[in-house]
Amino acid sequence: MADASDFRSDTVTRPTPAMRRAMAEAVVGDDVLGDDPTVQELEAAAAAVMGKEAALFVPSGTMANALAVKAWTSALEEVIVEEKSHIFNMESTHLTFISRVMPRPLRSTRGAMDPEDIRRNIRTPNVHTPRTSLICVESTHNNWGGAVIPLENLKAVRRVALDHGIRVHIDGARIFNASVASGVPVRDFADQSDSIQFCLSKGLGAPIGSVLAADTKTIDLARRLRKALGGGMRQVGVIAAPGLIALGEMPARLGQDHARAKRLAAALAGLPGVELDPASVETNIILIGFAHPRLTIPQFLAALEARGVLALAVFGGIRFVTHKDVDDADVERAIEAAGAILKG
Ligand SMILES: *Cc1c(COP(=O)(O)O)cnc(C)c1O
Repeated sequence: MADASDFRSDTVTRPTPAMRRAMAEAVVGDDVLGDDPTVQELEAAAAAVMGKEAALFVPSGTMANALAVKAWTSALEEVIVEEKSHIFNMESTHLTFISRVMPRPLRSTRGAMDPEDIRRNIRTPNVHTPRTSLICVESTHNNWGGAVIPLENLKAVRRVALDHGIRVHIDGARIFNASVASGVPVRDFADQSDSIQFCLSKGLGAPIGSVLAADTKTIDLARRLRKALGGGMRQVGVIAAPGLIALGEMPARLGQDHARAKRLAAALAGLPGVELDPASVETNIILIGFAHPRLTIPQFLAALEARGVLALAVFGGIRFVTHKDVDDADVERAIEAAGAILKG
C-alpha cells in the first residue's frame, strides 16, 4: 500500500533525499582490505559519539549483538539476559547457535533488571555449573514498549558486573531514543558498558546497518568474527554514507516521534478494547493489550489496513511505532480509523 500510514515499525523508514545523494556520491574502497574511507569515517564518528576506542559497521543489529556475545564469552559460560529482550527472543538463538552459551533470563521492571537479582543469579563456576561472563541490557526496551532503562539502574548493574569481573553489553538498537527521552547523552549510557550496539536503520532512517562500539582489541576480534560469519563487505561506503547522515543529523528529530507517539497513545487509551496506560509511552513505541467485545486482533488490524493504517501484532498485543515517515496527519488518520472501528 503506497500511501499507507505505516506504524508497524521504525524499520520501514526510507532513506531521505540527502541519504540517496550521499549513496550516489560516496567515496568507496574495499572495506575487507581496510580501504573504504566512508566506512572508516562512520566507524570513527560512531566510536566518538559512544565514547569508545573503536567501532565496527555491520549489516544488522542482530549481527552486532551476536559479535558482542561471541567476543565476550566462551563455551561453558552463561549470559544474563532480560526475559523479554530482543537478544533472548528475536535473534534466532545465536546465543546457543553461534556462541554456545546458556542464556539466563531474568524478570524486570519495564526492562530494568534488579541489580540484586542479577547478583543472586551470578554463578560460581564448578564442575556442575557454568561461569557467568556477560550481562546484556536493552535500551530502549522494544518488548517493554520502548521503555528507557534509567541511567541509575545501568550504573547499579555495572557495579555488580565489576564486582564479579563480568562484562556488560548494551543492546542499544534505539539508544538515541533513550537519550532524547531522558536527556542523558548516549555516551553516559555507553560508559556503563563494555560494548554497545545501535541501529542506524530504525528511527535514524538509514536503509541498512548497525554499529558495534567497544575497546580496540574487542573490535579487532569482532571484525574477524564478522568476516567468519560472512559479514565482511566490499565497497560498503555506499551504505555507510547514509549511515553518517543518520548518525549526524537524525537523532535531533527523534523528539517529534516521541511527541507523536504520546498523542496517539493518549487517543488510543480511551477506546473500547484498548488496554494501555498512556503514561507508559516514553519514546516511539506503543504496545497495547487488546480485548474487544466484537473484534480479535487480526480483525482489528485488517480493518485498520482497509483504512490505510498499518500496525503489528506482537506477543498477544498490538504495536504502533512512530518514525520519520509518519507525520501528524498519519497520527490523526490512525486515531480516526481506530475510533471508527472500535466504537462502531
Ligand atoms: C531491531 C532490534 C535489534 C536487531 O536489529 P536488526 O537490524 O533487525 O537485526 C536488536 N535489538 C533490538 C532491541 C531491536 O529492536
